[in-house]
Order: sequence, then structure tokens, then C-alpha cells
Amino acid sequence: MNLHKSKWSGELKSSFFDLLDVDNGYIRFEEYISALLKSLEEILDTETIIFMKYDEWKQELITEASSTLMEGSSSLHVNPADPLIQKTHMKVFYNEPPCPGLSEFRLVLPLRAHHQLVGILAIKENDQGSLDLIEFQELERLAGECTNLIKAAKSLSNMGQEEKRYKQLFRVTEKFHSSMNMDAVLEEIIHTLQDVYPDFTYYLLLSHDNSSHKGLPIKGLEYDSENTAAMQAFLTGTIQMEDSRLHRISSLYAPLKGKQGVYGVLQVIAANTVVFPKDEVEFIRLLANTAGGALENAQLYQQSKRLVADLQLINETSHKLNSNLRLSDTILYMRNQISKSFQAEEIGFITLGSNQQPAVLVESTDFFHRQDSASYIEFLTKKITIDREPLYIGDTAVQEAILNKKYRSIMAVPMIQIDSLKGYAVVLHQDPYFFTFDMFKLLQSLIHHSTLAFANSMLREELEKMVITDSLTKLFSRNFLDEKIASSFEKDEQGTFILMDIDDFKIVNDTYGHQVGDEVLVQVANLILKNIRGTDIGARWGGEELAVYLPDVPLSIGVAIAKRLVEKVNMTSNPKVTISSGMSHWKKGRMDSAKSLFKRADEALYRAKKSGKNKLIIHEDDIVLLP
Ligand code: GH3
Ligand code: MG
Ligand code: MG
Repeated sequence: MNLHKSKWSGELKSSFFDLLDVDNGYIRFEEYISALLKSLEEILDTETIIFMKYDEWKQELITEASSTLMEGSSSLHVNPADPLIQKTHMKVFYNEPPCPGLSEFRLVLPLRAHHQLVGILAIKENDQGSLDLIEFQELERLAGECTNLIKAAKSLSNMGQEEKRYKQLFRVTEKFHSSMNMDAVLEEIIHTLQDVYPDFTYYLLLSHDNSSHKGLPIKGLEYDSENTAAMQAFLTGTIQMEDSRLHRISSLYAPLKGKQGVYGVLQVIAANTVVFPKDEVEFIRLLANTAGGALENAQLYQQSKRLVADLQLINETSHKLNSNLRLSDTILYMRNQISKSFQAEEIGFITLGSNQQPAVLVESTDFFHRQDSASYIEFLTKKITIDREPLYIGDTAVQEAILNKKYRSIMAVPMIQIDSLKGYAVVLHQDPYFFTFDMFKLLQSLIHHSTLAFANSMLREELEKMVITDSLTKLFSRNFLDEKIASSFEKDEQGTFILMDIDDFKIVNDTYGHQVGDEVLVQVANLILKNIRGTDIGARWGGEELAVYLPDVPLSIGVAIAKRLVEKVNMTSNPKVTISSGMSHWKKGRMDSAKSLFKRADEALYRAKKSGKNKLIIHEDDIVLLP
């Protein structure tokens, strides 16, 4: 039998163009192969022709199509060194000696596209042995033509697939860059891969990941991991492969690489596969790189959001602290901010005096006022006085010096002002490793920025104690009065105390304004100074309350002075005010104290107010003592 070239050539070509999708320029490869088998069967007048696809990943020839009805599909494991594969470099060959698994098929047409083996056509001849009637050269020409058409079909169908894949990559990239949410990015990576390679298994191995991702196949990347290929990918930033021929499993590790570092590793597990084809590796590499960039963006964004929040906290705190708060307010404000920002369970403020002895400020939380905090304070004081460094303890379980282990997490930051250690702030939590490193850094900034305000408040309060005169009235300060009375109790025989309060002073302020109120206060103070001797002490008790202490002066003389003051204020003040006065007296040999002396004068003053004001009342306990 002789084949008519013009005839078979035309038939093969027309089956090609019949299946070509002219609008899109694609051809479905599998569909075309089936049509080709049909045409070939007719041209060669043979019994069965099958197409076996060559799977480079699995190194297998798998029956994909047949010119007659097939029962199931068979597969043939072939490695590249196999004689069958070697022979596929010929245009056409007889299957002699017959290859196991293919023995029924006499003739083989290898199909190559771009030098790569796509598959083979295996031809079974009919009972008449029709193949022998055809010249081998003619078969070669036929095989050549088939190969050309297959090549064209393969590349047209590949183009379609590639385009689809890169469209997917493009879509993913676009989505990545519109999201600043880590979870959304991670989810998208997994979904795209599942779309493109549905048969594979995926894991994302993330370095220091501490958030929870619902339902995503995410694992931590352990540094002591036995998985050296994953670690290698992470450290070198290059793709790593790991094949287990024994289990017929291949793993590919692609680093999720951004501009500043590697954020994790994408693990792709392919079962029943021996090697990953180059094209696929390239696609996965591109996807992993895109994902790495997106992860980096999301992470930087979250980091910057946190930094802005931290700065706001520090700014707000410094601002508040610099607005001249009293020490107690300063500390309470700090305590609030710290408890809000760190979820600390206990917050302590420990000052260290010149002798470096720790003193717990009253504004510290309850635990620090209890005995069981002693070992904490002792341990921290010792450590901070020596190191002068912030201290982070993740778990007190390993600290022998700390006796009760109720609080497992500790952060302590020293307050240092111009090289001098003023004290430290300490925060506690019962859970070990409760505070993060970021929190530790934030606490340091916070304390660092508030130390100045803290030191200023301390200094101002010390100064106030040291100053002995009141700046407005030029009377002595309350502290000075206290000291003088204390020493009088020690060295004198007796003493008289007068407490005065301007009547309805609020009305003066409301009527004439605060400035005039101040002037009236000065007028009363001047009257006091004019009517007492140099050894007597006129003091500002507080607000519009004034006091006079007369050391070693008997009650009768005190009464005269106090009465005179009540009268003079009434007569000379302008705008006119009156004062009420309460009086007490102490004498040696009687159980008494400065505290009780004050209390009696205060009670007497109260009664003067209650009984009409503008008068002097002497406490009844003291009247009895009148000589
Ligand atoms: P009472 O007769 O009961 O003492 O009436 P009062 O209005 O004097 O008493 P109150 O305690 O209600 O008000 C005291 C007022 O004194 C309110 C406060 O603003 C004013 N005051 C206290 N210290 C000063 C000061 O240094 N200068 C001025 N201008 N006013 C002061
Ligand atoms: Mg008053
Ligand atoms: Mg008053």
C-alpha cells in the first residue's frame, strides 16, 4: 500500500484547523490529539493508536487518549535513561525488542515540542500487518508532519495556559498591594496556589509570628528545626528543593523575600512527584517574591502604626507632666498611663534617697505597700543601683532572690537625672513573659521622658519645705511654724496658739476680685506682724487662715493680743473684713501635744464662726487653766 502524501497531509492539517479557536488563537491540546489519532488510524489503516503523555514531574508515560475505546488508563514508569526514552530522539521507530507494558504496539512516533518530549503515539497494527506495506521513509515523513502539528498545537495551548497563570499573578500582585493586612496577604498566597496547583499541599513557615491566623496552614519557622532545607531557604533567600525518592514526595521551599529581609518560607509539597519542572519553579518563585514584598509592606505599616501610637503616648505624657503638676499628681498620672498601655497588674514607684535607701511612694499600687513585696524591692534596688540599667525579667521562677513568685513578669526602669539615680518605676504581671520587647522599649521612653518632670516635682516640694516665709504675706510658712512649736514644747514652760480665719472671705473675692482679696490678706498679715514681738511667730496656716504662736507666753497675754487683732482688723481693713479667732494653750506637766493644741484652737475657731463670727473663743479646756 502506498500513502498519498498530498492526501494525508491535507487530512492532518484540516483536523488541526477544525479545532483551532480562531478568535483567541488557542487550541485545546487534548482535543487535538484525539482528532489526530482518528485521522492517523484512517490514514494508516491500523487497529488502535494511543497517545501516552510524558509527565516530566512524575517521570511517567500515561495513556491519555486512544483511537478506540479504552478500559482505564495505564501508566509506564520511565526515567530519562530508559531505552524507550532514548529512542524518542528518532522521528519514528519500531518497538523492537518490545518494551514491557507496550508489547502490543509495533510502531512508535515520538512527539517533541521545543526539544522536549511531549509524549508518544503507539500504533498497533491490524491482522494483515499493514504497516509493513508502507515505506519507512514515508512513515518518517508522516511522523515529521505529525510532530510539526503537535508542536504548533502544544505551543498554542501553552500560550493560553501561561497567559491565564500570569493573569493570576497580576491579580494577586494587585490585591497584595491594596492590602495592609497580614492575614489577607497570607490567605491570598495560599488561595492562588491552590488555584494553580490544586494537587499540592502548602505551608507558610513564618519567622517570629505571634498572631493567630484562623484556618491558614501556617507553621512557625523553628531555628532548631530539623528541616534544614527550609532553614537554608530562609537564611540564603534562595529556593531549596528536597526530594524523597523513597516516599515519592518532593518539597520546594521558596523564601518570602522583601527588600529588607526574608519574612518566612513557602513550602510546597508535591506527592507522587520526583522533580519540580523548571517553569513551575519560576512561577512559584515569582509568587513568593511578590508575597514577600507584600508581607514586608504590611509589617512596616503595622510597625509604623504602633510607633505613631507610642509617640502619641509619650508626647501626651510629657506634655501633661510638664504642666506643673504636684509630685503626687505626676505619679498618679504616670500610674494611669502605664496601667492603660501595658496592662500591668501592679505598678510601683520607688525613690532612692541620698543613702540609696528605697522608699515606696504612696501612689504605688497595693502590692508595694505589703510585706510580701519586700524581696522584689530589695532585689530590684540592688540590681538597679549597681547596673543603672533597665531590667527585664521574663520569668521570676528562675530568680532565687525573689521569694514569693506571684508575679512572674517584671519590667523596671531607673529614673536618672543628670547622672543621679532618683529611683525607679517597676511594673508586674502574674503571667511569665507577659510583656513584649516593644513594651519594654516603650516603658523606657516613657520613664526617660518623665524623669525630668518627676525630679522637678520632687525638687519643688523639697524647696517648699525649705522656704520659711510665705511669699504673699511675708508671714512664716506652716512648716517653719510646726518646727518652732515642736522645739518650744521641748524647751519652754508654756505656749499660746491663736488660729484666725477671715470671715466671708469668699464674698470679698467675689465682690472685688482675687487681687483685692490678696491685698486684704496682706493687710491682716501686717496687722499681725505689728502686734507681736520678734520671738513670736506669725504664720500662714493655709489659704485665708493665719496663725500666731506665742512661746512661753501665758494665756492671759495671748487673749489680749488676740482680742486686739479681732478689733483692729474690724476697724482698719479696707475693704472691711472681720476675723474669727480660736485659741488654745499648753503648760508643762500636763499631757499635751502640738497636735492636740492645734485641734483645740480649731474647735474654738469653729465655735466662733458658729456663734456669729468677728470674735475670739478660747477652748474651754484651756480657760480652766487661767491663773
Ligand atoms: P467663713 O466666714 O466661713 O470663713 O467664710 P469664707 O468665705 O471665708 O470661707 P470659705 O472657706 O468658704 O472660703 C475661703 C475663701 O478664701 C475661698 C478662697 O478662694 C479664698 N482664699 C484662700 N486663699 C486665698 C488667697 O491667698 N488669696 C485670695 N484672694 N483668696 C484666697
Ligand atoms: Mg477658711
Ligand atoms: Mg474664712
